[in-house]
This record gives sequence, C-alpha cells and structure tokens, in this order.
Amino acid sequence: MAMNTQGRPPGPGASGKSATDTFTGNSGLDHEQPLLFEVGGTAKTGVDMPEPKAGKARLGGLERKASVGLPGLTEPEALRHYVRLSQRNYAIDAGVYPLGSCTMKHNARLNEKMARLPGFGDIHPLQPQKTVQGAIALMEVLSGYLLELTGMKALTLSPKAGAHGELAGMLCIKAAHEAKGSKRNIVLVPDSAHGTNPATAAFMGYTVRSIPARADGTVAAEAVQAALGPDVAAIMLTNPNTCGLFEPEVAEIARVVHEAGAYFYCDGANFNAIVGKVRPGDLGIDAMHINLHKTFSTPHGGGGPGSGPVVLSDALAPFAPLPYSIREGDKFRLVETEGEVTKGHTPFGRLTAFHGQMGMFVRALTYMLSHGSDGMRQASEDAVLNANYIRAGLRDLMTQPFGDKPCMHEVLFDDAWLKDTGVTTLDFSKAMIDEGFHPMTMYFPLVVHGAMLIEPTESESKQSLDQFIGALRFLAKEAKQGNDKSRFKEAPRLAPRRRLDETKAAREPRLRWRPAVSKEAAE
Ligand SMILES: *Cc1c(COP(=O)(O)O)cnc(C)c1O
Repeated sequence: MAMNTQGRPPGPGASGKSATDTFTGNSGLDHEQPLLFEVGGTAKTGVDMPEPKAGKARLGGLERKASVGLPGLTEPEALRHYVRLSQRNYAIDAGVYPLGSCTMKHNARLNEKMARLPGFGDIHPLQPQKTVQGAIALMEVLSGYLLELTGMKALTLSPKAGAHGELAGMLCIKAAHEAKGSKRNIVLVPDSAHGTNPATAAFMGYTVRSIPARADGTVAAEAVQAALGPDVAAIMLTNPNTCGLFEPEVAEIARVVHEAGAYFYCDGANFNAIVGKVRPGDLGIDAMHINLHKTFSTPHGGGGPGSGPVVLSDALAPFAPLPYSIREGDKFRLVETEGEVTKGHTPFGRLTAFHGQMGMFVRALTYMLSHGSDGMRQASEDAVLNANYIRAGLRDLMTQPFGDKPCMHEVLFDDAWLKDTGVTTLDFSKAMIDEGFHPMTMYFPLVVHGAMLIEPTESESKQSLDQFIGALRFLAKEAKQGNDKSRFKEAPRLAPRRRLDETKAAREPRLRWRPAVSKEAAE
C-alpha cells in the first residue's frame, strides 16, 4: 500500500483499521508531533522581555548580524514536545523487550535511588581524592565482586560500553604481545560473533580471520586449532554464544589458543546466563568485558550511559589501563598518571578522561547487594528458564536452526517455518508491534537465515510470558494458514508510524532541519 513520504498513515487502509483518520492526525490522546521548527516559527519568541539597552560592543565587529534561526517556543510548547516524544519511546518500563543478545532487564528503582545519593550523584571527578574516599571504596567493592563472580585476577572499570570494553581488553592483549616483542597481526572471530568483535579487531589494525560454526551452532576446538598460527594474536569468542548456546569446547579452545601463544578474549555480553554458575576464569579466558547495562541491570543507551568493565587474567593484569585505584592502609588512592604507576604495572595507556560511569557502578552494586549471591545465581537460572519456556511454547510452530534442544538465556528461531507463506521475518516482527510487543532481535546472528533471537530475561512473569507466547502463536498460525496476509505486509498498522525505509534512514540520515525554500526564493 502507498504511504506518504514521512511514513505517516494516510487514512483508513484496505483493512479500514488505520488509527489516524482524524482531522488532527492525532489518534486518541496520542498526538501527532511536528518538529519544533514547525511548532514555533523562528520569528516567534517564547518570552516577552524588553529590548536590552545597547551596551558597548565588545566583540570587535564579530557580532551576529542575522537571526540564529532557532524556533521561538514557550515553555509549555517545548515541554509538551519532549514529553510526547518520550511517550513514543518504547522502554523496558513499558513492556516486554525481548531483544536477544541485548539483555533488556528491569532497571530496579532502588538502583536509581542509590545513584542519586548526594555522595555519589553530586561529586566531580576533579575533587580531591580525600573527599571521595567512599566513592572510590564503592568502585573497589564492585571490582571485588566482579572478580569473584568471574574468577579473574584484575579489572578495569573505565570502559563505557561493551564495545569499548572489547577495545580495552584487546589493547591489553596487544600490549602483552608487544612486551614480548611479538608482532602478531591476526585475530580469529567465529562467524556467529557480534559485529563489534570483528569491528574492534579491524579498528586496531588486525586482520580478521573468521571461523565457521559447526552444524550445531557451536565452535569446534579443531576448527580453532586449524586457524591458529604464529601470526595469530587472539581469538574473540562469545560464550554463551549468540545462538544462545554454551560453547561445549571452550576449555579446550582456551588450551589450544594458549599453546599457540595467543590470548583468549571472551565477549561476556551474555554473562547474564551464567552468573553464579560458571566462572570465566576457570575456562581459561584472558580478558572479558561485562556489560553492566545488561547483566547488572543498569539502563541501556538512551536510558543512560553504558558501562563495560573488563576483567583480566594474570597474564594481562599488568597492562590494565590508567586510572586504577590501590589501597594504602585504610585509604584508597587513584593512580591517574604514568608517573604514579605502581610496581608490576605497565598500563597500555588511558581509555577515558576519568574513571568510568560512576552512576552505573552504584546501580550495579545495588543490584548485586539487593540480590545477594544466591539471588544473582537465581536470576541467571530464571533467565535461562524463561527462554526455554518460550522455546517450549513455540517450538511446534516455529523452527529452531540447531535442532530441538535446550538453550541458555535466549532462544533462536530461523525462518524455515515461514517458507512459502510470503511472510518474512521482518513482516512477522512488524506484526508483533500491532500486538503490543517490541520485536525480538531479527536477522542476527548472521549464520542463521531470517534469525529471530528472543531473550525474555528473568524480569518477565509467567503471565507476561504466556501473553507473549500467545500472541506469537496466533501470528505464527495466521502466517501459515491465514488468507489475509495484510496483517503482516501492512504492519505495523496501529503504530504512530508505518513501515519506514530503515535502510535509507541508516544510510542517509537526515539530521538537520532546513527551512523549506519558497519557490520564488529558489528562482
Ligand atoms: C551488546 C553486545 C555487545 C556490545 O555491547 P555494547 O555495550 O552495546 O557496546 C557485544 N557483544 C555482544 C554479544 C553483545 O550482546
């Protein structure tokens, strides 16, 4: 069906179900939202103040002559604009957010309360260290817990996302090789890896050598061994992997990697599945990032900054970046410059201006303390249970690429079951929006055709899982047997925007508003 250029619903569709065939374009109390520039003209002003008396110009002739061209808005106009936009933003606080690999779990309000305590929320990284001893102590306690949970030797808190953590860990690996005088230039990455893994390796100038997955979706130690050689610096492996499977040969992979003089980087974004069950250090891992915004419930992306601490093995510990903290008697000291570096440390340098995301450290530690070690283990168990509950609820209708066997914290379906229906993974996902669900991760991992990767996390109750499964079962049956495919092809029919050209939006983002040029002016 035709849609106008901005993807706004054009009125009742073939189905007659368009939500916005209203005079205003509003749909009930859900308002159509023009751009700020369209609300307030640049000639308008939101405040009414007397003209200032001309003072003496002190800019030496550099004063702006023309108007800035900002929209003039009143406070209620500006406020309503942003409040309405925020209501369009789907969030974990609004409903199930089953994005596989992303671990969108509930962000407990207790975490928020603790992060706002003045002693944590109102401090500045340039304050004298003696005035922030409590904050540094909190970072120490958090580090201690992360080391305990991972069974690793050292840690850096400063990376600000998982991908940033990958860079930190790989820089440690590079520094370790350089310290030995070796110039290895290849990094092994399995086919099923998250895109950030090869991107990190390539960004650092490494050549990426990919390792094929086995028919069962896991990586064989034999395949790793075959790819190893004197030029291989490291392997980057995700465990549990992005197919939702625990790598059964991970310990053997670590052994062959070390035997070949390389290091083992583990992408720990899926740590939520194994907290309290397996310690990565026991598997032979040398470096791993932990996404506090996944496993330890701190907000993601638009909801707040991420945090990607990296844990390190004995071999890599000396290369951890500045800054780091050390204990001196009953005080803590931040080592911030190369001149202060303590014995045994040879940091690869510095990654960020300050010490990382303090607010995230407070939230993550609050999550840990409020759960306790038994609670964290149970969270992992429940995350795995919930994923398998969904798997069991859908496996008769949807197909699993690696056979009908238990998964870890996320369940992966492919699109084989949609064959000959004319419905694609994308259509199916869009139809989920009309049913009130944020779609799962689609078309990732790339090793699976038409992938649908569902991760419910431990946050969801049985009732919400049942509702989710019920909706997907209904849609799956409609896709297979229903005669009216418009439910899929026209979806989403009930969202404020319809099917947008997402590729174009990503490739040619229009980030700037320009005033429409009138015909006369253009001529
Ligand atoms: C989320 C994720 C990353 C990247 O983490 P960011 O914090 O988004 O940078 C890397 N690998 C895997 C497997 C992930 O799920």
